[in-house]
Amino acid sequence: MNNRDLIDLLNAQHRLEATQWAQLFETYTDEDLEYAMALARDITVKNFGKTIYFRGIVEFSNYCKNDCYYCGIRCSNKNVSRYRLSPEDILKCCDEGYAAGFRTFVLQGGEDGWFNDERMCEIIRTIKAKYPDCAVTLSLGEHSRESYKKMYDAGADRYLLRHETADETHYDILHPAHQTLENRMRCLRDLKEIGYQTGCGIMVGSPGQTSETMAKDMVFMQEFEPEMIGIGPFLPHKDTPFKDKAAGSVKLTLFALSLCRIMLPWVLLPSTTALGTAEGDGRKMGVLAGCNVVMPNLSPLEVRKKYMLYDNKAGTEISASDGIAILRRQMEEIGYEVVVGKGDFRKGDQL
Ligand code: SAM
Repeated sequence: MNNRDLIDLLNAQHRLEATQWAQLFETYTDEDLEYAMALARDITVKNFGKTIYFRGIVEFSNYCKNDCYYCGIRCSNKNVSRYRLSPEDILKCCDEGYAAGFRTFVLQGGEDGWFNDERMCEIIRTIKAKYPDCAVTLSLGEHSRESYKKMYDAGADRYLLRHETADETHYDILHPAHQTLENRMRCLRDLKEIGYQTGCGIMVGSPGQTSETMAKDMVFMQEFEPEMIGIGPFLPHKDTPFKDKAAGSVKLTLFALSLCRIMLPWVLLPSTTALGTAEGDGRKMGVLAGCNVVMPNLSPLEVRKKYMLYDNKAGTEISASDGIAILRRQMEEIGYEVVVGKGDFRKGDQL
């Protein structure tokens, strides 16, 4: 079957075989990319209108006990100046975000033991008490089922945990031996069962990735049916073992995003900061590929540069309000409007 027929088949049945996914990633042309992007865009506009949900991200700690080989804040990187925001600072970021129209706060950080269950639950409860009309999304890495449950009961609504790759050999290229794909997947299953709107995802072009590993990612996601998918290009960081590796392809990232939209027409799909870093217009292109979420940074300017996951990360030199204004304008330039609203996952009639 040719690639265009495969994309049509995906649109009809919302799933493909691993070999069909691999064929798409291995052999797609610029025309296939355009075709997939146009289809994905149509689906997004039909389901969500020309509206984009904004989520305010607060990067509250760059302490991390993990040592992911790709990540700039890995524990072995001694050149990082470590910080953690106080609960009061985190709330201030939310105050600023609320005033700017945000109704989702994403609390993201390294795996920092200082933020134990008790402290996290207190922070979640405080935000939800002050802003009951807002969603709290967590992105705190791997924890026990009990911790996830406590934070859910404290009021957290959503959880982002990229699976990074669904292929074990590839997972082991990206992480030290004690970090396992098995545990990452256990976490994702627990999160979904507890009731979180759950996000998984990958970096496109991470070292060791192939069309076959990406096919496994797609097969995993079509089974798992996440409510959110985070996909951005891998970008090297100078203080990691992958410093000399090539950055992931923007085209392939856009193709993967479009295919995710066609596969899961209602999924919440952010156009990521990494995409905006790889290419100035990246986040606009992401929207034109079927994304419907953008996540401006609400972290205080003083700490932005310290949450450097990869080199030259976009938005580290501008204030939260300037960053929001720029993104809003970028969305308007392509005819999309930013909406105030929680933007929960909902599943309407599939196309
Ligand atoms: N600690 C939490 C976790 O593990 O999910 C959240 C923070 S972690 C830094 C968030 C995501 O950043 C990771 O899932 C990874 O996909 C992405 N990331 C890290 N380093 C990156 C790089 N060099 N290029 C692109 N994305 C990267």
